[in-house]
Amino acid sequence: MTIFNPNTLVEITQQFGTPAWVYDAATIRQQIKQLRDFDVIRFAQKACSNTHILRLMREEGVMVDAVSAGEIERSLVAGYSNSDNPESIVFTADLIDRETIELVIQHDIPVNIGSMDMLHRIAEVAPHHSVWIRVNPGFGHGHSEKTNTGGPNSKHGISLEDLPQTVALIQQYGLDLIGIHMHIGSGSDLEHLSQACQAMVGIVKLANVDIRAISTGGGLPIPYSSHEDKLDTMTFFRLWNDARKEIESHLGHSVKLEVEPGRYLVGNAGALLAEVHCLKSTAEHNFVLIDAGFNDLLRPSMYGSYHKIEAVHQYSNQQGLESISNALEYAVAGPLCESGDVFTQDASGVICHQILDNPKVGDLLVFNDAGAYGASMSSNYNSRPLAPEILIDDGQCRLIRKRQSINDLVALEMV
Ligand code: PLP
Repeated sequence: MTIFNPNTLVEITQQFGTPAWVYDAATIRQQIKQLRDFDVIRFAQKACSNTHILRLMREEGVMVDAVSAGEIERSLVAGYSNSDNPESIVFTADLIDRETIELVIQHDIPVNIGSMDMLHRIAEVAPHHSVWIRVNPGFGHGHSEKTNTGGPNSKHGISLEDLPQTVALIQQYGLDLIGIHMHIGSGSDLEHLSQACQAMVGIVKLANVDIRAISTGGGLPIPYSSHEDKLDTMTFFRLWNDARKEIESHLGHSVKLEVEPGRYLVGNAGALLAEVHCLKSTAEHNFVLIDAGFNDLLRPSMYGSYHKIEAVHQYSNQQGLESISNALEYAVAGPLCESGDVFTQDASGVICHQILDNPKVGDLLVFNDAGAYGASMSSNYNSRPLAPEILIDDGQCRLIRKRQSINDLVALEMV
């Protein structure tokens, strides 16, 4: 069942149209609360980078991770400032371009380095800059192979073989090493995340250098279906805290423990809303065609991800609207001129079905648990404008991003 009140969703679409994204602030705050034992919660904003969501995070004392110059600018707009708190923003990447080097220097933003080339470039212009080392522990795990960020097939991080040389370079350049970071993948599970914390102890010993902090990275899973459990955050913290204590006794002083979730903070807090425009049956499928496509929500087409879909009968009192009688299971697809524009598909692209309650043309479909990697992965494919975003906080619905217009799109081409 959706976390949102269906009447509120209908009101939102009447005011802002469809497709539209909606977020629940209370759910985000609740998720943050589950991780309060960590010294620093750092939001991986790539999951949902709207500046109003970032502001909410900042007000809750959550720090932020940025992976591009654009994400740094968003953090600044949201009021994060490393001169107020040097831990506010960290920049994580495997390469750094000239524009971003200028930004991190100007705003004193530590760089979480994923390659030795980054070190050379930073040291050239800012020899005492603060850095983290992002280590690839030699294994990884995500909800899809595409979100596995460790092991020999991953482009991310410093390999264990390169770690001693990386540390030597940092010392030689006189860079300020804050800590060691590890992110094994997005949407992982407790089993693999606990392997990561065991690996961290060995990596700190292998690095053989003093550090002030360690970061678990992100990857904390959320339930997308009723068969999936919520993450046991107490166990997750205990495992990492044990690793931290071992590192502290090795180094002989206290060490800060950071966690860097994206999906966990916002995934269950958001939904995509779309209107049914067409019902169409083939020999194999009852298709429900809606006004959102993979340009809006990419995860099903990209990874075969499951989002629980529900119908809200916003016009159910109206007569004469189409429905497919006797159907129970439906394939849900978008408006794009692309056969892969189907929200109910598995990772190999085979079309699947979901049970929907008699959807009719004009009804609203709610895609649940779409708060992470939803709006932030949207595109303008087929020249479709970005959908608006609405935040529900304390009973109030607030527009936090306007709908893009076609004029906005073509304006860039007026050259
Ligand atoms: N940190 C880094 C460096 C990442 O690349 C990612 C996403 O892949 C995250 C954190 C957040 O991952 P998740 O949203 O699964 O928590």
